[in-house]
Amino acid sequence: MAYPHLPEVDLHTHTIASGHAFSTISEIVAAAAAKGLRGVGMTDHGPALPGGPHAYHFHALRFVPPTLHGVRILRGIEANIIGPGELDLPEHSLNRLDLVMAGFHEDCGFRGHDQAENTEALLHLMAKHRVHVLTHLGNPVFPIDALAVARRAAELGVAIEINNASFSISRKGSAENCRQMARLCAQLGTPVAINSDAHIAATVGCIEDALQAVEEAGVRWEQIVNRTLASTLDFLGLDSGG
Ligand SMILES: [Zn+2]
Ligand SMILES: [Zn+2]
Repeated sequence: MAYPHLPEVDLHTHTIASGHAFSTISEIVAAAAAKGLRGVGMTDHGPALPGGPHAYHFHALRFVPPTLHGVRILRGIEANIIGPGELDLPEHSLNRLDLVMAGFHEDCGFRGHDQAENTEALLHLMAKHRVHVLTHLGNPVFPIDALAVARRAAELGVAIEINNASFSISRKGSAENCRQMARLCAQLGTPVAINSDAHIAATVGCIEDALQAVEEAGVRWEQIVNRTLASTLDFLGLDSGG
């Protein structure tokens, strides 16, 4: 590996609160600590996903301490894009969170008729909302103009996720799109996040396929926003005390 070490933070995990994931916050953080991670994002799906948590779940993340088992917890969401520039949690709720990620998911009320509509939805979203990371954009169910999205993300400092699960167990047919997106990020200097999208504690921090794709694409280490805990907190505008 050409990079100096593995990323210290996994920004993207799901707990039992998502309705289709299998571990608690405590279990995920314990697994993260055992793997040597220094930070982990608690990014359950937004309320629009069938079985997803109520908005109160996200308000109640204030009960979660900023550090557990020596691991920094980022209180977050993977919000659903439910229309052009529209997410499934109101702005005042999103603003309470450390980490706002957003992505397209099936059965959440929006699917563009074509590449242009999906791309417009993302461009509107970046212009309108405080979104830190766009998740798993390689999904062929939601085709996009990758160049237009990567360029705007670079301009606005939004990170594009290269999602490890997209190379194996989720969103079949994503892998080549993810590699292409990584190459565009390398060319344009777009911030990149490398995440597991773990739905069970055992796979927290599993990012090997995504890391390999990003490295082969020529993404510089400094472009990876979650490379260290310090770079992650800096990217999110947070201080080290929570
Ligand atoms: Zn997702
Ligand atoms: Zn996810």
